[in-house]
Amino acid sequence: MESKISAITGSIITATGLNGANIGNMVQMGPEGAYGEIISVSGDNTLIRAYEETIGLRINDIITDLGRPLSIELGPGLLSNIFSGIGRRLDMLKGNFLSKGEIILTLDRTKKWDFKAIKKKGDHVSSGDILGGVQETELINTKIMVPPGVDGEILSISSGEFTVNQNIAKIKNGSGTATEINMIQTWPVKKRRPINSRLEVYAPLLSGQRVFDAFFPIQKGGTATLPGGFGVGKTVSEQQFSKFSNTDISIYVGCGERGNEMADVLNSFPSIMDPHSGKSIMNKTVLIANTSNMPIVAREASIFMGVTIAEFYRDMGYSVLLTADSTSRWAEALRQLGSDLGEMPVEEGFPASLFNSLASFYSRAGIVRTLGSDDRTGSITIISAVSPPSGDFSEPVTQTTLRLVDAYWELDKQLSNARHYPPVNWTDSYSLAVENLRPFYEQKIGKQFYVYSKKILDLLRDSDKINEIASIVGRDALPDKQAAILRMADVIKLYLLQQNAFDEEDSYTDIKITYKMMEIVSKLIDKVNALLDTGIRYGDLKANSIWENMSNLRHKSALDVLEKQVSDLNTDKK
Ligand code: ADP
Ligand code: MG
Repeated sequence: MESKISAITGSIITATGLNGANIGNMVQMGPEGAYGEIISVSGDNTLIRAYEETIGLRINDIITDLGRPLSIELGPGLLSNIFSGIGRRLDMLKGNFLSKGEIILTLDRTKKWDFKAIKKKGDHVSSGDILGGVQETELINTKIMVPPGVDGEILSISSGEFTVNQNIAKIKNGSGTATEINMIQTWPVKKRRPINSRLEVYAPLLSGQRVFDAFFPIQKGGTATLPGGFGVGKTVSEQQFSKFSNTDISIYVGCGERGNEMADVLNSFPSIMDPHSGKSIMNKTVLIANTSNMPIVAREASIFMGVTIAEFYRDMGYSVLLTADSTSRWAEALRQLGSDLGEMPVEEGFPASLFNSLASFYSRAGIVRTLGSDDRTGSITIISAVSPPSGDFSEPVTQTTLRLVDAYWELDKQLSNARHYPPVNWTDSYSLAVENLRPFYEQKIGKQFYVYSKKILDLLRDSDKINEIASIVGRDALPDKQAAILRMADVIKLYLLQQNAFDEEDSYTDIKITYKMMEIVSKLIDKVNALLDTGIRYGDLKANSIWENMSNLRHKSALDVLEKQVSDLNTDKK
């Protein structure tokens, strides 16, 4: 019996004739093969949730059960491309989405890749072993791995030009069955890819964004969230991480946000150079776009697509950053799905499964020993944006997320109103990785790193308290030491914490330069305190030029001079 559409209600499709279908399986519907997922089966009635527009669908349109859950094709051709939330390849140049009529697969079937085998006939291989690789982009050699679940003796393998779906090797298992291997691994997005073991290794994910790198760092393999109300600066920060982080691969998921933001990404990313290699960042980037104009149900899929692609590159031994903007939009999709399925909402309409859903995403971050016999280490770092309605951080998605992540980077409305970008609140933000990263920072970046960062954060927190007093008595009435603290806090905020994403020099700061900036600020604090202790008045500090000169903190080439000016402060007794 043919399976057909019997009713269409918004994004929920009722089908007949799909008896025996599995819940969770993917289907394709109608002449354009719109994707959907089976959500319930009762008797002859099967309910399907459409991932794509249902406008073109009609009663009696044919439905095909694909026999597998929502999956993505993994293989060469992901990098420097953009995909929809369910993995359709989108037109990079047009930036317009979902061309109808044609079923566009994730991986291009026409492009030939130059496969270089590193294993040979007769070799014994097991899951995760690298058979060879293709130079997918200028920066990334994509490994062709023995798929999970396959092992045995290589019967044949050949280097040369192949499309992704041509066979490059044949492997015979212990019982004599041969498996043909091509360059595609189709993988269900909600199933984590197998690993060897999880590791505890602490190296920072550095983004060149000073406030994060210096004060609230996370490790490669860690997780962080950027909660903030509308317009505070979440997207800009997410994009800065995506562009500049020191990972091999960067995956940016635009989930439920405005389409023009994704268009901006498409326009701006190709001309941004990776500070670590000097090549266009697109060489290491995969974009996933599930913008607000696309069906809400595909949002859930887009996040899992992203993390599955991340696992694929991790499995090759790469470090991967996944940025997701925003997971609140994703959670809205969960809420919608929950109500479609008749689940009981618990808090503000969210289903009880919210925690598990979010956990099943964040727990795919980590640093691991991959499958394969050659001892590879790979990592996935996840940075999510959360956009609580009306900026209220007590709402369920923010609160649930914060139980799951290592770092909480609170974006503050007041700071962003004052155009203090990125508006990271230095009192409420935290990173649980700080102590674990200490050896790396102190040994690889600067011995005094943590001394400086503590001194600076302490001063900022003192200045907040003093500001409260100053708002009552006025700044002029403050004792000298307190007045100086406020002045130094201004310097820190203006030139160290604030960072203009749109200024070419300021947009990215190497961690060694950030260290130098912190060193100068720290010396300023010590110097000013020491001078005040000798009885010099705050107003008599040769403050005239030093305070203005501090703006040179933003200029790499001026740092040496500035450092000298700080140590010479008030040493001439004129
Ligand atoms: P959100 O995603 O939280 O709604 P955006 O990231 O789109 O907010 O930021 C809103 C605006 O704030 C941006 O268009 C930009 O003008 C400004 N902005 C945010 N972060 C920065 C930054 N680091 N440097 C300069 N401007 C910024
Ligand atoms: Mg945004």
